[in-house]
Amino acid sequence: MTTPLDQLRRAGEHAEDSPTAERGLHRTTREDLVRWARAHMRDRKLVVVSNREPYTHVREGGEIRVVRNAGGLTVALDSVSQALGGVWVAHGNGNADRATVDRHGRIACPPEAPAYTLRRVWLSREDHARYYSGFSNGALWPLCHIVYVRPRFRLEEWQRYREINQRFAEAVLAEVADQPAFVFIQDYHLALAARTLKERRPDLEVALFWHIPWPNPEVFRILPWRDELLEGMLANDMIAFHIRAHALNFLDNVAAALEARVDHEQLAVHRGGSRTWVRHFPIGVNTDEIAPMAESEEARVAERAIRSHLGLEGCRVGLGVDRLDYTKGIPERLEALERFFEKYPEWIGRFCFIQIGVPSRIELKEYRDVLLRTRALAQRINQRFPRPGGPTVHLLETNLDFRDLVAYYRMADLCAVTSLHDGMNLVAKEYLAATPDLDGALVLSPFTGAARELERAWIASPYDREGMADVYHGALTEPEGSRRERMAALRETVLRHNIFDWAIEVFDTVQRLTLRTPGIDPLEAHGG
Ligand code: UDP
Repeated sequence: MTTPLDQLRRAGEHAEDSPTAERGLHRTTREDLVRWARAHMRDRKLVVVSNREPYTHVREGGEIRVVRNAGGLTVALDSVSQALGGVWVAHGNGNADRATVDRHGRIACPPEAPAYTLRRVWLSREDHARYYSGFSNGALWPLCHIVYVRPRFRLEEWQRYREINQRFAEAVLAEVADQPAFVFIQDYHLALAARTLKERRPDLEVALFWHIPWPNPEVFRILPWRDELLEGMLANDMIAFHIRAHALNFLDNVAAALEARVDHEQLAVHRGGSRTWVRHFPIGVNTDEIAPMAESEEARVAERAIRSHLGLEGCRVGLGVDRLDYTKGIPERLEALERFFEKYPEWIGRFCFIQIGVPSRIELKEYRDVLLRTRALAQRINQRFPRPGGPTVHLLETNLDFRDLVAYYRMADLCAVTSLHDGMNLVAKEYLAATPDLDGALVLSPFTGAARELERAWIASPYDREGMADVYHGALTEPEGSRRERMAALRETVLRHNIFDWAIEVFDTVQRLTLRTPGIDPLEAHGG
């Protein structure tokens, strides 16, 4: 069966003068998504739902400033919502958020060029502590990322999680009123929102994208409220993951826990007269935004400024960009760096490493621990392997604006993405999009979702210090020809499977599976 995306790709193969048809390959653009929506969304409104909001208002010295939030998911979906309009329902957490909305909690976004409505949901400090820090990040996050951090299960946190999911759903229902809509729920904070939506509006199309891994039944069965969580999730018409293994794990969990018919061939769950499709769609990044940014004069100037400020002249540069999270393998990366200098001392003074560490969930002890471990390692490497121009490891504990981050990507001879377990990891893809001169190397953990697509990256396990040290050396000494050829192949994958390609694929699959358009057999449609 031919999907609209197939048609686009085929059209691109012949449209040689098309700006998106470099090397005969069609790269999906924002305009393609808009065209798809015009033809297929009809009167349905897009409603994105996520915990984190795309724009936050903060008061600083009497002034109100708007901040575009970092974080792969919100940045990626912001470009989709900007293209399609509609509503985005999210937690308003800025100290000036209330002062900038109307009486329904709404504000037009992006503030400088409104394209969609942001509807803010208000949470108290206690809501946040229980629903967000508690059940979402103290229970579900460690449960789904298998990195041997023990999840904490507390009844009051689970109860609050259920209430807050309902609150998000109520806000969605208020926004859609009695109109048709496609509600696109994001991530593990909102596993139960679909239940309320479908109870009240069974006609809504509802899909949940689970952006983190899903473990096998042996791991997941320790959750005391496992059955209720799975039942709540099955209220969605479709549940999607980044990679097939996580989708299959989810189906195995349902089969192990619930009385339901799990169809492994069609990847669907049948239960109590309803059906939930389970699919996988690896997310992409907004290459249309990143690539030109990386080629801009502004980025060149910023790169020169960073080099001079950090004293990097004459040094090859390695880069890590992560939230300071225990799943990201940051200490493991630095331990491998230390070993690299021991094994290959010719690099001492000739290789520097910049670790951008975004402070994250600092209210949880495991996060404070990873921060302290990272600081101690950076300090130890700098003491053991000093260099005249400045420190060997620069640990920048900051949350950079995306435009500034691009200058770091451009500059890096090597980018290390070494998560212990990760649903996708967008930094890997952003780095490739921001390296138009192909002068770089991506070192990637096999335990990231991105490693499934980016097979030509330098694969290094964060559990193997020796191996990772060798990979650093191999990546830095690869002859120029093969280095560029490798980067070109990796970059092409990222440019083709960008965020707009992903959005069309997801939206089109939901629509074909749920609308059951006359003449189209939904069972033939295999998204992802
Ligand atoms: N990021 C940013 N500023 C920073 C560091 C990171 O905007 O200083 C963004 C980065 O561009 C990427 C996201 O944070 O889009 C991290 O996404 P990823 O999927 O790699 O990991 P997550 O934090 O979502 O687990």
